[in-house]
Amino acid sequence: MTGPDRIVPLYSSSHGNSTLIKSNGAYILVDCGVSCKKVSQALVQSGVYPDDIAAVFLTHRHTDHINGVKIFSKKYHTPIYGTKETLAPLDELFSPVTEIQENDIIKIENGPEVRAFPTPHDVAGSVCYRVINPETGRSISVMTDLGRVNDGMKGFARNSDVILLEANYDPYLLENNANYPYPLKRRISGGHGHISNSESADAAEFFIQNGTKRFILGHLSPENNTDEIASETFVNLLADRGLVRDVDYELRIAKRFEPTEGYVL
Ligand SMILES: [Zn+2]
Ligand SMILES: [Zn+2]
Repeated sequence: MTGPDRIVPLYSSSHGNSTLIKSNGAYILVDCGVSCKKVSQALVQSGVYPDDIAAVFLTHRHTDHINGVKIFSKKYHTPIYGTKETLAPLDELFSPVTEIQENDIIKIENGPEVRAFPTPHDVAGSVCYRVINPETGRSISVMTDLGRVNDGMKGFARNSDVILLEANYDPYLLENNANYPYPLKRRISGGHGHISNSESADAAEFFIQNGTKRFILGHLSPENNTDEIASETFVNLLADRGLVRDVDYELRIAKRFEPTEGYVL
């Protein structure tokens, strides 16, 4: 397989996440959080056979990130990577499983190098990933379910060519959502759940100043966010700080329930 590196978010929301990345000629998935059938359909729609996936990297064990992985493993025997805590509930995998440590660097044969870094999300063993093409040095980071963005995470993803960055909620919509009980609201916004649109922009300001030009906002809540509010908040906040869309950076929004044309590097 040749051709340029690329990122295609297949599904991206609290209802299920899976991201296709091609790096150094190999395809990998970050998360498999909808059914195997849906992931397979989205892959084919994106021009990739599920058989061609070299590895699945899991960020953490919440259902919206691991839902389809058992069946995917049974059907395609794809090697699965995740931390001990993430792999624990997946007792019946049918393909090679590799337990990773936070901060590990994994080398995929004839493919990318994948680095993991711990995130302060509310389940043990949560990580984000940076996928690096060792031939070109170009890299793609997947950063969702962050809780908050600390200096360690900033350093980890710094100077990535593309970052899929969480923008989960608008604080006003979340506070005023009558269907969300108070403890759930606190879980989401309390520093160990998800990051808001403005927290995402705060992080992006650092990343732009450190070399990243391309962002995809992802894991948008279907209940507490909209594409328009997320991009307006993000763009306006950065504009206030002198960073202009399509001049200083490019921005796309990941669709929740279908593949999004991401970036070709
Ligand atoms: Zn999630
Ligand atoms: Zn989560």
